[in-house]
Amino acid sequence: MYPLNNCPGGVMVATLVLEASAERRGSSSLPWGTIMNTLEEKYIKIKNMAARRIEICKTCEYFYLHTCRKCGCLLAAKTRIKSSACPLEKWMPE
Ligand code: SF4
Repeated sequence: MYPLNNCPGGVMVATLVLEASAERRGSSSLPWGTIMNTLEEKYIKIKNMAARRIEICKTCEYFYLHTCRKCGCLLAAKTRIKSSACPLEKWMPE
């Protein structure tokens, strides 16, 4: 099996699918359009969260080539993970 926890993007997609499935659990059918709408809503929320965080990072002394020099993370991935946090507490988990 592919190690999803080594790929923040993969974790995000897997999480979205699992959350969408969990939200629809109990219904007799899983309409694809409904699932896709749920995923799209979640994707937009994550995209907006990442944009807010990146704006903060861009003003930070540790921001360098879209990487955080404090924690070493690639910020395009780190800012999209709801539970992640800035090591300097400039932004927190959501
Ligand atoms: S995660 Fe925190 S320390 Fe790293 S670049 Fe962003 S604001 Fe700076």
